[in-house]
Amino acid sequence: MRSIDVAVVGAGVVGLAAALGLAQQGFKIALIGPRVRVHEPTDTAPFDTRIYAVAPATVALLEQLAVWKRVDVARTNAILTMRVFGDRGDALTFDAYSAAVERLATIVEESELLRVLDTACDFQPGIQRLAAEFETLGDGADGISVRLSGGDELLVKLVVGADGAQSAVRAATGVNAKVTDYGQTAVVTNLACERPHLDTAWQWFTDEGVVALLPLPGQHVSLVWSAPSSLGEALAALDADALAERVTLRTRPDLGALKPSGRTAAFPLRLVVVERLKNELMEIFNVDGNASGLAGAAFNGIFGQGVSWRTMAGRDAARAAYDDAIGDTRWGFARE
Ligand SMILES: Cc1cc2nc3c(=O)[nH]c(=O)nc-3n(C[C@H](O)[C@H](O)[C@H](O)COP(=O)(O)OP(=O)(O)OC[C@H]3O[C@@H](n4cnc5c(N)ncnc54)[C@H](O)[C@@H]3O)c2cc1C
Repeated sequence: MRSIDVAVVGAGVVGLAAALGLAQQGFKIALIGPRVRVHEPTDTAPFDTRIYAVAPATVALLEQLAVWKRVDVARTNAILTMRVFGDRGDALTFDAYSAAVERLATIVEESELLRVLDTACDFQPGIQRLAAEFETLGDGADGISVRLSGGDELLVKLVVGADGAQSAVRAATGVNAKVTDYGQTAVVTNLACERPHLDTAWQWFTDEGVVALLPLPGQHVSLVWSAPSSLGEALAALDADALAERVTLRTRPDLGALKPSGRTAAFPLRLVVVERLKNELMEIFNVDGNASGLAGAAFNGIFGQGVSWRTMAGRDAARAAYDDAIGDTRWGFARE
């Protein structure tokens, strides 16, 4: 059985960032999970359907990991202003100038984040990549045994669960998660807009759910329409022109006529809350490394905070858990 410091399960954005951060601090890492398909950046590639609005603290973390400067800046966009419209026509505006910050958030494609993190992990000598699937954990005298598909077994001091909302690591620690369906589906696509978006994130609270448009480079926006499930499914089944017209009806006159500029995807929205944050075998950490609800839950995607919380949690919590690994806390867990 191979002996390694930390097993990071899951090679998505959060797992890659956690593995990189820990390896840069000198730990020997096994990064476990299927490799993501990394795209080749080109000037002409359409924008990814999965767009993240990331907080300044996440950008600072990615800078610290020395990957942010590798992100193609021409494919990112600042959010300088947020405009939120209520269903009775009231409006709220937040802007970077009055908050005395450079920007409220940055829009970046998931594929770009995955590309730069995946490449950095490949160049990091402290990371050993194992394409196998995590299967289960065992608690031994000399550490935690991690069993993988294909029969491989590792002996580690800490396991970081970054394996998504249906986490097998969470299940292996014996912590149950309560999953509540919001009864909503998020319909996601990219659109070209007739008028400039003014680096603004727009949100309309309507009787058909929340329509959000995030600014992409040029005159493009990313739609997240969180609609009641039956409407969301119907919207996702529309052809691209009909969906763009439907969105225009909800968002005019600010951005003018919208035209399709990407494929459509739909995500059912669920609330995931773990039943407890700590047992004798594991602890769930938030961004400060303290036991708290943040990293232990999946929130409605409309909050736009998933990666921000989890990348932070992945690095800081894993470090804190590692430092603590000889004590009672044996398994750090940094993903819902
Ligand atoms: C519509 C929508 C909009 C969103 N918008 C935003 C936003 O604006 N900003 C933001 O910050 N967040 C946003 N989010 C949330 C964000 O998408 C998630 O927080 C983020 O994708 C989580 O990344 P992750 O790496 O933890 O998990 P995932 O991306 O789910 O990756 C998990 C990885 O683990 C692997 N894996 C699974 N099981 C195993 C196993 N047994 N063994 C090994 N590997 C395994 C998978 O293959 C995968 O690679 C949004 C979500 C939705 C649905």
